[in-house]
Amino acid sequence: MFPQGVVAYRQLFLTHAALAPAINQMGGREAAGSAPCFYGEKRGAVPETVPPTERTRVVRESHRGAYDRESIYKILDEGYVCHVGFAVDVQPYVIPTLFARIGDAIYFHGSAASRMLRNASDGIPVCVTVTLTDGLVLARSVFNHSMNYRSVVALGKATLVEQPEDKLEALHAFTEKIIPGRWNDARQPNEKELKATSILCLPLTEASAKIRVGPPEDDAPDYALPVWAGVIPLHLTPGTPIRDKKCDPAIPTPGYAADYRR
Ligand SMILES: Cc1cc2nc3c(=O)[nH]c(=O)nc-3n(C[C@H](O)[C@H](O)[C@H](O)COP(=O)(O)OP(=O)(O)OC[C@H]3O[C@@H](n4cnc5c(N)ncnc54)[C@H](O)[C@@H]3O)c2cc1C
Repeated sequence: MFPQGVVAYRQLFLTHAALAPAINQMGGREAAGSAPCFYGEKRGAVPETVPPTERTRVVRESHRGAYDRESIYKILDEGYVCHVGFAVDVQPYVIPTLFARIGDAIYFHGSAASRMLRNASDGIPVCVTVTLTDGLVLARSVFNHSMNYRSVVALGKATLVEQPEDKLEALHAFTEKIIPGRWNDARQPNEKELKATSILCLPLTEASAKIRVGPPEDDAPDYALPVWAGVIPLHLTPGTPIRDKKCDPAIPTPGYAADYRR
């Protein structure tokens, strides 16, 4: 899965003790940016759009569909949680989980899906959805109430990241993507923990975005109604960090926690 750029990791993957400082030296965002797998890391190799297929073309309100990587990646990078849909026999499952886009792929923790993957070396078909809710749209009629949102649907085959060194590299990138700087401070996974962690990788080759912005759209006669209409914006805002009671008060709150921004 990680054809290039993992040599250093492979050489380093000796023991946790030997490995931790070496990984630490890679540091925050930079290290995440040079992380593994990373389909089409050389941007020239990847088209700027993900052309819609029969499966990903937005049908309803099709003008809200977007297929350029910039729009899709922006939504993915703002999200924390994805919902992973997959079928076991004829039973669909949709599981929420943390994820991070790294290069041209999504990485997410796999639980149930990873069990299936043990018997499917070429991957399992999944549908991964990420939704950002930007506002409640209050129209004059109940029927025309809506939400402002940005969402992405990605289809494809997810594969299990199996090699411990690849897993570690993915976890490093994953952590740094969500909280840049945290990897260096926290204890890194040991071999047992790595074994207990399943990570799945989905290349972003078939995906769509759908974006609703703006005011309510009422039926023409309803604009005369004496009803308040507009948008209630919704924002996900980090609060002040709450220190764990068991955390030594002498340890200062790190900047990446105190000033956390996404
Ligand atoms: C917070 C939120 C609230 C919504 N509320 C409503 C609602 O009340 N009523 C309603 O009809 N719709 C709602 N939608 C839109 C809904 O997600 C679907 O887009 C819609 O129901 C069906 O569209 P379609 O016919 O194109 O879908 P389908 O034919 O089911 O989908 C075809 C393809 O279009 C793409 N697609 C469809 N929807 C999305 C999406 N949201 N994001 C990215 N790609 C997409 C996918 O690739 C999919 O495979 C909401 C979306 C969000 C995020």
